[in-house]
Formats: sequence, structure tokens, C-alpha cells
Amino acid sequence: MGQLALFNINRISKTALLNDINDYDKVLISVSGGKDSLALTLKAIEMGVDRSKIELFHQSVDGRHDTQQAFFDWPSTEGYVRRIAQALGVKLSWQWRDGGIKKEMYRENALTGDVFYQAEGSDDIVCLPTTKGTLSTRRKFPAKVASLSQRWCSSTAKIDPARRTITAREDLKGTNERPMKLCWLTGERRQESAARAKYDEIPEHPANSKARIVHWWRAIIDEDEQSVWTRLEKHRIRPHPVYYFFPRLSCRCCIFFGKNHWKSLKDISPEAFELVEQTERDLGFKIDQRFTVSELAAMGKSSVRERTMHHIPKIVSEWTDDVILAPGEQWELPAAAFGEGGGSI
Ligand code: SF4
Repeated sequence: MGQLALFNINRISKTALLNDINDYDKVLISVSGGKDSLALTLKAIEMGVDRSKIELFHQSVDGRHDTQQAFFDWPSTEGYVRRIAQALGVKLSWQWRDGGIKKEMYRENALTGDVFYQAEGSDDIVCLPTTKGTLSTRRKFPAKVASLSQRWCSSTAKIDPARRTITAREDLKGTNERPMKLCWLTGERRQESAARAKYDEIPEHPANSKARIVHWWRAIIDEDEQSVWTRLEKHRIRPHPVYYFFPRLSCRCCIFFGKNHWKSLKDISPEAFELVEQTERDLGFKIDQRFTVSELAAMGKSSVRERTMHHIPKIVSEWTDDVILAPGEQWELPAAAFGEGGGSI
């Protein structure tokens, strides 16, 4: 039963949030295509959230269309996310930074790039020009630390484009008398890292205003990895094939990769690996600081096995398969599930 008075505050208790989940005008879910964000979406559906209110937000970390600079994203991920939205019958929209993480990495005496957004199925692309900040030079990889200001890839390519889109979209805005009520769901889990273990379950969202109330809920924060996979199995979701080789569907060359991940990437996508090697030479800077990615890969052990090699073409090309298993098809836990590392902390 809804308690509308509770929407007049920026922060909300979990009990009130759960009681009121269908009183939100929209439920926006940040979806990377990875298992946690899918489990989060399935949890919202299981809770009875009206699917017509759900919109998946996906941030394309390399940019899109003519602003795209292919580097960090797996070529299969956007198509996979599109199929997930179609299969679940929910809306989908894209957000990105001009040139993505690569352009920001090479930025020289310039502002951070503009932000764009687009609804799936629409030709309209909206640009949100970046006018604040100072002209400055980056020319380095994001730092391998938990702090989002130094590990700027997440904030530049994901968090900020999503926040600016929520703030800018007229259809996500009400009036001072009747603010738009949004629930923003993200899929971090405490089990993933020491930094995430300390996250608030219901933090304050920076897009709150008089005409827009946004309640942010990390709705699976206390779930473990087993329960995430169990939810995917229950709904017969075909996991992204990256999980046959990496424990996380992170960027394909995530700054947090260890030696085994780099060796695996070199085997799965030599072109992507060469891009990282070239960038280390261009910038005169190593992702790992101590070793080059070539040295790390030489020390690492690949996760590619003969029995899983057939998944590689699916990862490195545009995704076109169904994401719900066909009747009679057996759901399978991917080989690298429950592995260590390989994604943001
Ligand atoms: S997955 Fe890794 S490289 Fe990509 S944004 Fe997150 S921390 Fe950065």
C-alpha cells in the first residue's frame, strides 16, 4: 500500500521503499548485461514491478554511433542487452560519453567529452554539451584504486552519463507540486569487494530536485553470487558467454585485470590486447604500473579451453541469439563463474 507522503523526502527507509515500489512513476535499472544487473532486473520483476514502468539504462563505455572509439567494450554486449530488454518486455535506453573511455584517456588540453542519450528504437540522439570544468590533460589510464575520482573510467563513462541523462530528460521530470517519482536500481553486491562491503544500501541520489524525487536502491547488495546465478537459471536466461572465460562481464580490458585475465584476453581477442599494448606505448604509462600487459600475459594462464573455445566468436561479434533458452535447452553454469577478480572493485 502506497504511502505517498514518504516521497517528500530524498531518502527513504527500505520498508517504505518496498511497500511503495509500485507507487514510483518509473523504475530505472542500470544494466551492464552482467549477471548482477540481470539478477537485479529479474528481482524487480519478481517483486511485481509493472514492466511498463521499467526502463533499463545501459552506458556504452566506448560511445556510440559516430562518437564511438572501440576499445573497452565487448562487441557482443550491446546486442545482448538489447535482446534482454526485448525478452523481458521492458524499455531500454543508451547513454554514452563522446568517444568513451578511450577519448578521455587521450584527452589533452580539453574538457571531458559531451554526454549523449538515445531511446532504443528511436533515431533521436540527444547531446548534453559539457561546459563545466577546466581544459586539462589526462593522457593516462584510470588508476587501479577504489576511489572514483582516480579510477575515473566508471564515473566518466557510466555514472555521470546516467546521472546527467536523468537530470536532463523532460519525461523524467514532474512539477514542484507533483514531482516525478523515480526508483533507481543498481546491482553492486557487498560480497564483490572490501570497498563495496561498506556501500549504503539506499544512498542519496544526486539527481533529486523539487520536480524529481529519485530513490536509489542497491537492491541485491546482500545477495551472494550463488543466489544471482540461481535467479538467472530460474528465469532461463542465457548468460553472456564472457562468463566462460572471465568471472565478471566487465570492460574487455578492465584496469583491474590480473595476469591470467590478460593472457585470456590475448587468446580471445588479440586485437583488443594489441590496442592496450599500443596505448601503453603511446601514453608511456602501464595499466598495472609495475608490468606491461605483455609481461603480465606472459606470466598468466589462459582460461580458454578446447571445450569452451566455441563461445569465443559469440563474444567478439555482434550478438544476435535469443537470451532465453529454448524449451528443452539445458541451462548451464558458465565455466568461469565463481572465479576471482576481473572487474571493478
Ligand atoms: S569495468 Fe574496469 S575498466 Fe571498465 S569502467 Fe569498470 S573499472 Fe573501469
